[in-house]
Amino acid sequence: MKINLIKYTREPEKMVAVAARLCYSPVGVDDLMDKLGDEDIKKLVKFVIKSGHLSTTEHIYFTFAAEGVSRALTHQLVRHRIASYNQQSQRYVKFKDNFEYITPPAIEKSSAAKKKYDNLISDVHNLYKELLDIGIEPEDARYILPNASETKIIVSMNGRELLHFFTVRCCNRAQWEIRELATGMLKQVKKVAPVVFENAGPNCLRGSCPEGKFSCGNPHKESDFNA
Ligand SMILES: Cc1cc2nc3c(=O)[nH]c(=O)nc-3n(C[C@H](O)[C@H](O)[C@H](O)COP(=O)(O)OP(=O)(O)OC[C@H]3O[C@@H](n4cnc5c(N)ncnc54)[C@H](O)[C@@H]3O)c2cc1C
Repeated sequence: MKINLIKYTREPEKMVAVAARLCYSPVGVDDLMDKLGDEDIKKLVKFVIKSGHLSTTEHIYFTFAAEGVSRALTHQLVRHRIASYNQQSQRYVKFKDNFEYITPPAIEKSSAAKKKYDNLISDVHNLYKELLDIGIEPEDARYILPNASETKIIVSMNGRELLHFFTVRCCNRAQWEIRELATGMLKQVKKVAPVVFENAGPNCLRGSCPEGKFSCGNPHKESDFNA
């Protein structure tokens, strides 16, 4: 899996701080932009995150490219509605010679499972190519492609949605592949907005686990999400 933070709002934490300070300030935005120092920014961002004044984090955007991920992963990712997506198309791209697929670690570890898995995918790919060869359009031939099919996706989320996304998808209850993606994304945003994302991650980082009998019983530490 390759994850890249490819674009983000310039000075994201200053943006959050200016939005927060504006609410209570008699002066204009230009003044705030000029006058807020690093320490003020840090204090204000800590305050808004702690107090739940999270609309201020909606002004900052982060865009990631994820490659080498499965369609099983992206199906879960796009359930997050406060986000923008563009994904490699199985209608316009033909996967004739270069069909890549993702193998779950549990299958990778079992030689018996891996052999059957690889064989089935190879058979599916051969049939896909046959369908294209007899004139079936890629948009129809793709119906036989598996959830394992490799894909590439660009996703943009604002800070507030990312905080929510990290809460549910960095949790051990989340499926392994989207958890790996969310963890990689969190490590990257922490480098550019460390105060906003200081305590980001599953609920167990900030208090008790709400999963009840489904709890993994293995609380995370903040360092699990440092790059
Ligand atoms: C461990 C796990 C298991 C899951 N299992 C299943 C499953 O078995 N089947 C299944 O279908 N899905 C499953 N999901 C997906 C889940 O139900 C959500 O669709 C997905 O996590 C998107 O999150 P969300 O709806 O909280 O928020 P997002 O779409 O990311 O939106 C963020 C927040 O905005 C608000 N919001 C967004 N849209 C609305 C709206 N229309 N109305 C009101 N408020 C809104 C909500 O507060 C929401 O939490 C699972 C998710 C996880 C993490």
